Amino acid sequence: MAIVVQKYGGSSVADVEKLGRVADKVVAARRAGEDVVVVVSAMGKTTDQLLALAKQVDETPPRRELDMLLTTGERVSMALLSMAIQKRGVDAISFTGSQSGIITNDRHFDARIIEVRPHRIEDELARGKVVIVAGYQGMSYRREITTLGRGGSDTTAIALAAALGAARAEIYSDVDGVYSADPRVVPEARHLPELTYEQMQEMASVGAKVLNAQAVEFARRAGIAIHARSTFQPGRESVVRRAVDGGGTAVIGQKGIVRARVRDASALRDALAIASEYALPARDVSLESEGATMVLATSLAPDWAATRARLEREVPGIAMESGLGAASIVGGAVSEALLDVIAALGRREIVARGVVQNATRISALVREDDVDRAVQTLHEEIVAKE
Ligand code: ASP
Ligand code: MG
Repeated sequence: MAIVVQKYGGSSVADVEKLGRVADKVVAARRAGEDVVVVVSAMGKTTDQLLALAKQVDETPPRRELDMLLTTGERVSMALLSMAIQKRGVDAISFTGSQSGIITNDRHFDARIIEVRPHRIEDELARGKVVIVAGYQGMSYRREITTLGRGGSDTTAIALAAALGAARAEIYSDVDGVYSADPRVVPEARHLPELTYEQMQEMASVGAKVLNAQAVEFARRAGIAIHARSTFQPGRESVVRRAVDGGGTAVIGQKGIVRARVRDASALRDALAIASEYALPARDVSLESEGATMVLATSLAPDWAATRARLEREVPGIAMESGLGAASIVGGAVSEALLDVIAALGRREIVARGVVQNATRISALVREDDVDRAVQTLHEEIVAKE
């Protein structure tokens, strides 16, 4: 029988009524004859609330204990969903990440999955059960409980799909897939029915939150097609896979950007080591004879204040320019658009503090307050004209 992995995000399981509707969907898939593995996120904003709770106790809580706390969110939803499915007359069982055989490295807060041994899941599927798995978590090879970084339930779903040889992974949330820009910022944004792994990965790395970057990377390596769908408004979907017909270009905005400058290669090495230790994403790194620069996406870091203090203390001469944001174009139109991007921003009097281009992306650094306007401008003048 074909195995399908379904993942439901926090807004899809935000309350008991929604959980019940998710249970109905799972039961329908099971009754249609599929072997179903369901990965769940924590209910609603639970993870944010748990983080805030920890910070009331300690501004920089110990990472290990933070992971102990954060993993409870997904445990609540997995147990409730399993109960709801059983109540509907279908056999189900819930498992934590460690019970599911998700083995990670020993980093806390942003662990990477290194191996999946889903024997217990396979056994329960063979018994005809629906298996519910707590997303976002695993167990390190030292038997410590770890979390996979924000949005990490997507990663759980894809890693399991790959390990189980699933036919596909269905990622359910409150949006019916991927758009050419965030529809809340650009109401006329276009729905993108198909994207390549590379485009989606690049979009996620510059701040698109629809799918987690590491999840897309895993899907690419295993060749698993990702179907991004809306839980409660079925209809359209976006499929992320290897080869697509056409694809499309998207604009992504990101706030909380800091540009750091350091003196030389050795200072750059120190700065990048600290960034990595604190799970702070650094990109667009460049080293020239006058010094080096890098773009830090502080909104994705668990503890920017502590990271900043360490950088200032241990990297002599580091200079940080904050209050920045980025507007990035990813996809087909990129190769010839660099000058158009600069001109379009200029016409709206948005000052580009820096522009970088690679094979699949152009990013303009702007003032944080200008990010939404920059995204609207680039969508209107470049993406919509494609
Ligand atoms: N609950 C976790 C988070 O909010 C993981 C997830 O939802 O994917 O980041
Ligand atoms: Mg998510």
